Amino acid sequence: MSNEDSAEPEEEPVELPPYVIENARSGRSKCKTCQRKIDADVLRFGVLVDGRFGQGYMWHHLNCGAKRMLDQVEEAYAMEAWENAKVPPDPDELPTLEKLRAVAEKASVEREKKEKAKKTIPYAECAPSNRSKCKQSGEPIEKGAVRIVLGMEAHFGNQTRVTPYNVLPQYLEQALMEPDMGTEEEGLADALRENSRDIDPELLEQAIAEAGLS
Ligand SMILES: [Zn+2]
Repeated sequence: MSNEDSAEPEEEPVELPPYVIENARSGRSKCKTCQRKIDADVLRFGVLVDGRFGQGYMWHHLNCGAKRMLDQVEEAYAMEAWENAKVPPDPDELPTLEKLRAVAEKASVEREKKEKAKKTIPYAECAPSNRSKCKQSGEPIEKGAVRIVLGMEAHFGNQTRVTPYNVLPQYLEQALMEPDMGTEEEGLADALRENSRDIDPELLEQAIAEAGLS
């Protein structure tokens, strides 16, 4: 019989709680969500992680944590993670979970809006200024004139990057024949109708006709 087990030192590693909510004890930590400094005394949310050198906390501003990982913030609230702080903050000073949920909801609506605002190539738009030129002809594009944005491919080793290639409708045919053109003529008119949101549909149809696509 071995009594090896009982011979083991009784010293158990200290178990760190999975979450901590506290006022930052110094201004030295950095928020892992927004990458900005967490000022001293500002509420921060710590998530226990196993790192190369043992366990430690990844810190986030409490609001940033709510935006990025609301589930975990909810868990932390359920277990009253502020009690894990060296100097526990007054629970009455903490934002309510309802408030943090609202913060998270607002952030997710913003993210969606941004996602929707991203333009998908190919699209048509009215030039916002006089400063752009038709990439195909070199002609200046007047403010308000319709330009069609195609995708030109640029190759870097194994990678292909698509860069916008603005053309006036009358030069579209020619642009489509460029060797690195990433936009195809097939389905182009429909793609333009689908992707061009900030343009009067009538102007768009005119441009499509002028480009010889319809
Ligand atoms: Zn932050």
